[in-house]
Amino acid sequence: MTVTDEALKTVELDQGAVGRLSRMDSLQNQSLAKGLRERESVRLALIQEALRRLDAGTYGVCTACGGPVAAERLFVFPESGACAHCGH
Ligand SMILES: [Zn+2]
Repeated sequence: MTVTDEALKTVELDQGAVGRLSRMDSLQNQSLAKGLRERESVRLALIQEALRRLDAGTYGVCTACGGPVAAERLFVFPESGACAHCGH
């Protein structure tokens, strides 16, 4: 079997391009997954915090001003610790 220089060059270029693309892909996936993990862990921390406040009987009390947190806000953001005024 004869492999011409031309064919070799084409194969090399193709592999290089694919390599770069998949590297970019995996970098992108990595940072996406990292962002998701960070968001999830922040949310998890908030939920654990909310559960602690449930136990302590202070759930629904704004962590910033001590005022009541509106029920509809708790319904939409059950892990929220602050009222709409101080809210995150
Ligand atoms: Zn507040």
